[in-house]
Amino acid sequence: MKKTKSIKFSLFLIIIVTLFTASCTGRATQKDQLVLDPISESKLLLGTVCRITIYEDDHTHLFAKSFSRIEQIEDLMSRTKPMSEISLINESSGSGEIITLSDDTYLVLIEALDVARRSTGLFDPTIGPLVDAWGIGTDGHRIPEQDEIDRLLALVDYSRIDLQEDHKTVNLPVKGMALDLGAIAKGYAADEVRSILTEAKIESAIINLGGNILTVGKKPDGSSFRIGIQDPLSDRGEYLGIVSIQDKAVVTSGVYERFFIQDNKRYHHIIDTRTGYPVESSLLSVSIIADDSFIADALSTAAFVAGVEKGLQLIDSYPGVEAIFITEENEIILTSGISDDTIPFELLDESYTIITAGN
Ligand code: ADP
Ligand code: MG
Repeated sequence: MKKTKSIKFSLFLIIIVTLFTASCTGRATQKDQLVLDPISESKLLLGTVCRITIYEDDHTHLFAKSFSRIEQIEDLMSRTKPMSEISLINESSGSGEIITLSDDTYLVLIEALDVARRSTGLFDPTIGPLVDAWGIGTDGHRIPEQDEIDRLLALVDYSRIDLQEDHKTVNLPVKGMALDLGAIAKGYAADEVRSILTEAKIESAIINLGGNILTVGKKPDGSSFRIGIQDPLSDRGEYLGIVSIQDKAVVTSGVYERFFIQDNKRYHHIIDTRTGYPVESSLLSVSIIADDSFIADALSTAAFVAGVEKGLQLIDSYPGVEAIFITEENEIILTSGISDDTIPFELLDESYTIITAGN
């Protein structure tokens, strides 16, 4: 029921977006300068609305190429498609079968394992069994019994993935183990779309995969892209601040993306690998700003699980990566590259207090 609703809502969004873009393609002149209006196309992929906006004319073929690349990644990494590479790997867990990976899945898994190690397993690509048990964002969402959680937690352990790097093969040694690349696949897909656009010499574009934003270049008038940071407790599209970026990704993980409420308690989709429950902390969301969407996506989830203190330490170990933490206490914690205006942040909601990390 809920899923049908969200798909309907997504289709509604696509129609709105299509109508909107149909009415604003073409050229306009501004201060004697030729300014190109953006052209957008959207498609429902990776379980979300994927929208690509290009600030140049005559690039319709790039939309088709980009969406088919995203589709390819979805076909490999989807957990809902029974024939995806990830589904086949999970299906064969405990059987001893060794599976040869595609280049895409191999790359994503290597990156996921790196973040898993660096976050001491708070980010863990073997979170699959717990994601299935909770079913958050599906019709079957529920609160599992404690003994079920304990049993499934024992299956979550990235160090047990048998990945042979020289042969690019993988094997999950215990029955019931399951990979879930949901925290990182969209980031990878966005970077892949960027490659398609930049190879075609596109200098200005926005790739938006369900709120994971990756910008190419700057706007045609030379200004930065202004990207809204969602107010985690308000409706979608209500921003508490704006970051101005060029050639960067902004990816947010938060309590508001997918969740259900039972007995006044919110159960969201980011699982704490220490407890097996949705992360419980004062954090409402973490936005990461980085050169690549891939790393921003992985780190937004990892930092959300890690919490403010450990999350900041983790981000600190990645040069050039910045973060915005939003807490229940109406605090916005910014890393130094944002507070020093290297990446400008404009506060829209005065009820929040800005704090610079490390101070
Ligand atoms: P979204 O994909 O909704 O933008 P995230 O990037 O934060 O949000 O990814 C959340 C998804 O990551 C979950 O739906 C689940 O598939 C997976 N996940 C949940 N908890 C963890 C975890 N501790 N480590 C790695 N992946 C996780
Ligand atoms: Mg993520």
